Amino acid sequence: MRADVYFVNMRALEKRSLLEKVDDLFERAGFPALIEKGDLVAVKVHFGERGSTAYLRPIFVRRVVDKIKTCGGKPFLEDTSTLYTGSRWNAVDHLQTAIENGFTYEVVGAPLVIADGLTGKDYVSVSIDGKHFKEVKIGSAACHADSLIALSHFKGHEMTGFGGTLKNLGMGLGCRSAKQMMHSDVLPVVDEKVCVGCGKCLKWCPAGAISLLGSGEAKKARIDSEKCWGCGECTVTCPHSAIAISWKAEPENLQEKIVEHVLGALKEKRGKVGFMNFLMDVSPDCDCWEWSDAPIVADVGILASLDPVAIDQAGVDLINRSQGIKGTKLGEPGSRDKFRSLYPAVDWSIQLRYGEELGLGTRKYNLIEIG
Ligand code: SF4
Ligand code: SF4
Repeated sequence: MRADVYFVNMRALEKRSLLEKVDDLFERAGFPALIEKGDLVAVKVHFGERGSTAYLRPIFVRRVVDKIKTCGGKPFLEDTSTLYTGSRWNAVDHLQTAIENGFTYEVVGAPLVIADGLTGKDYVSVSIDGKHFKEVKIGSAACHADSLIALSHFKGHEMTGFGGTLKNLGMGLGCRSAKQMMHSDVLPVVDEKVCVGCGKCLKWCPAGAISLLGSGEAKKARIDSEKCWGCGECTVTCPHSAIAISWKAEPENLQEKIVEHVLGALKEKRGKVGFMNFLMDVSPDCDCWEWSDAPIVADVGILASLDPVAIDQAGVDLINRSQGIKGTKLGEPGSRDKFRSLYPAVDWSIQLRYGEELGLGTRKYNLIEIG
């Protein structure tokens, strides 16, 4: 059976704003039926790292918050802290960064909650029947909420090919140790011929696994594989692309582990969850970086669905059908698979295939264009 995925494009043919179109999506996708009067409704967003500019615009979040309130729900915005030592790696820094990025109460109309607590240790263990895990650790506020609306900025991702709803929920709702377990098969390797010994990667490593060996211009980064958590931050942080990802096990494990965390996060919320993907400012990398590279396609529109697999499949398809933008990280603007072109070693379809296999949803969908 196909899932319904509702879509609004960027045109304003009837002089209607995108904000009004968000209201339409909320209604047409059936979100009001997910919320009962008095429900504590988690709105899962990514607040963006300090310096990132491509993350989801708070004004869209406000629109969804207002709709939840009209349904009688009590919305709050949530995310979990990061594994790496950036500007969101504990609740205090995370909330400060979110406020600097525009997620103030005045703008979004709802309180912000870091779902896994002050230091990423506040979680609920959820039993699942996965290939990798029989139990996953989900941020406690995410588990205790009555309903969930996930708002995801759709973009490229260096380790999963693209990041949409599944990535936002799986990695985004796991507590810190869960993130560590998801990343445990990643092993970075330094190319000493390329490394210039600048030390930038050391600053981002959460495990203290990188040291600089040698002296003067001969300094080179060295990674202690025993200490490394496999978060992959150093591979993107290095300005000289001197660190490549290698894998201790099959590369598909990371995506499968993320999807198993989605299974855990949604386990107690059957009939209480809705998803929106924002195909705007489609940057090639995650919003976890302290920069945002140029978008690889023009803004496409917004999707809404009750199926987390179908909405991600629809997002990939719409972006792959768009014309790539020259001069961006996308090497071949005409490529039919934009995400494979960005990250040739990553098969992004694994997360969708495994999501389907676990019964989270279907890759087959009806795209229903409205507005
Ligand atoms: S950031 Fe890159 S170039 Fe600088 S020390 Fe680390 S690996 Fe070497
Ligand atoms: S060395 Fe390992 S733990 Fe440190 S940033 Fe790189 S991948 Fe993460």
